[in-house]
Amino acid sequence: MASKFETAGAKAGFRREVFGEAGGCPLFALTRRTPGPRPRIYLSAGIHGDEPAPILALLSLIESGEFDARAVWFLCPMLNPVGVARGTRENGAGVDLNRDYRHLESPEIQAHAKWLRSQPNFDLAISVHEDWESTGFYLYELNPDSRPSLAAPMIAAAKKVCPIDMSPMIEGREAKGGIIRPSANPLEREKWPESIYLQAHHTRLSYTIESPSSLPMEKRVAALRAVLVAAIGLSARKA
Ligand SMILES: [Zn+2]
Repeated sequence: MASKFETAGAKAGFRREVFGEAGGCPLFALTRRTPGPRPRIYLSAGIHGDEPAPILALLSLIESGEFDARAVWFLCPMLNPVGVARGTRENGAGVDLNRDYRHLESPEIQAHAKWLRSQPNFDLAISVHEDWESTGFYLYELNPDSRPSLAAPMIAAAKKVCPIDMSPMIEGREAKGGIIRPSANPLEREKWPESIYLQAHHTRLSYTIESPSSLPMEKRVAALRAVLVAAIGLSARKA
């Protein structure tokens, strides 16, 4: 999978930045810096190795040329390569990497945080996931400055492809129409996922999007693609 990103990334004008190594697999980012003022958009996937659709969605968007001159791009498409190889949520040491961003104990997240520190701030960050328990698409929004929200258009884009999780509670949090906006200050949580780290240090607008793993793979990839295309279209247009 890493080599597919290498090939597709090179073809699409991305620079491959290797920032570490885990179990013999490279930890890498793909960046594409269009000159001139552009929104800076960060996307990540593959931090949970048992969530393949987000990785495939990013690969397919690279191949279809979505990451064009409208923005400056920062992609971390496979943050947990050992988990991906083994098909496990956790890394090789059994750590859920998406809970390690407060204390930065795993080599993977230490390396990722170090790479992030050398990047500029992002105008938009999206962490792409899927959920094995959900029956519909949903997302989290972290938008502490109440910037124009992309949540509703992202849900509308997903709805054209797959069901939306309309539960009033998702993952123990209040939700409305598939949108979770955490009310408590996320920075006070004991364990930080990537999105909280990004809010603390790198962005003021971030999303975690979750496709339902119960659907066929093709549908999950299509839903994630549609949501990302919608968010990118709105962010790039504002620049
Ligand atoms: Zn996940």
